[in-house]
Amino acid sequence: SAEIIDGKAFAKQLRERVGAISADFAAAAGRKPGLAVVLVGEDPASSVYVRNKGKATIGANMESFEHRLPAETSQEELLALVDRLNADPAVDGILVQLPLPSHIHEQTVLTRISPDKDVDGFHPVNAGRLATGLDGFVPCTPLGCLMLLKDRIGHLAGEQAVVVGRSNIVGKPMAQLLLRESCTVTITHSRTRDLFEHLRTADIVVAAVGIPRMIQGEWLKPGATVIDVGINRTEAGLVGDVDFDSAVKVAGAITPVPGGVGPMTIACLIRNTAVAAHRNAGIALDRDAI
Ligand code: NAD
Repeated sequence: SAEIIDGKAFAKQLRERVGAISADFAAAAGRKPGLAVVLVGEDPASSVYVRNKGKATIGANMESFEHRLPAETSQEELLALVDRLNADPAVDGILVQLPLPSHIHEQTVLTRISPDKDVDGFHPVNAGRLATGLDGFVPCTPLGCLMLLKDRIGHLAGEQAVVVGRSNIVGKPMAQLLLRESCTVTITHSRTRDLFEHLRTADIVVAAVGIPRMIQGEWLKPGATVIDVGINRTEAGLVGDVDFDSAVKVAGAITPVPGGVGPMTIACLIRNTAVAAHRNAGIALDRDAI
């Protein structure tokens, strides 16, 4: 039976390291690192995420600036707020919670955030930096997945990795990160034929499809490391994109849902905020420390 990867414990340790680094930063800079989170509308899941991000920020010795705007906020008003946050020296990181109401064009808003405050890593400049091997902000969920993989496997060079899903938020940056680690990367998606054929030889599987329990244990290579990004609310409760009960019998290690990737996302968000603060203040940060 597979080792269960404890993302919750890993995330807690990461948050504690970031908290210590933030305290040192505050002593050196005379201010705390600051993260601004913008929520438009009252989507219940988004509201919970924003609250948890605020809690984690404060818990890591950082300043949390929460902006909750009504659903009818215009795109112009939202862009004006982003402009103010871009110019605010107390704000190191800016996050606009997705999804935005349908009358607002998401890409226009994300592209307005200064790439140097883009702690979510969604700005095209940061996507381009990741693709070309430059220093930039990496999206939090795939960054968290990579940390769990390195913790479990060590060096990833030469590993066969299959990413299931090609979204800008998870699948594509995940593939770029694995490529940067010298994995042999296959990206699969909704139009992929015979997905199981690809999974059969995969040492690493990252599932980000949003389809409950889609990936079956019988499709996996025995001993594979399986990272399940999926968060699906079903009548049976929260389930991932991997059929955990069959996968746990075949995999070498697997993340549970909940308690696997989920907690890593927020931990990586505050990690990125700490990095942003050091850059913005011109204070050196030992990257290996986080
Ligand atoms: P998305 O809906 O934007 O992307 C889904 C991807 O899956 C698409 O690229 C699509 O091509 C692919 N896909 C769909 N059906 C497929 C199939 N049959 N075979 C192969 N690929 C298929 O979703 P997303 O934002 O990338 O999120 C994916 C999942 O991860 C969701 O369950 C979401 O809730 C979860 N998620 C979790 C976190 C976290 O913090 N743990 C963060 C973001 C997303």
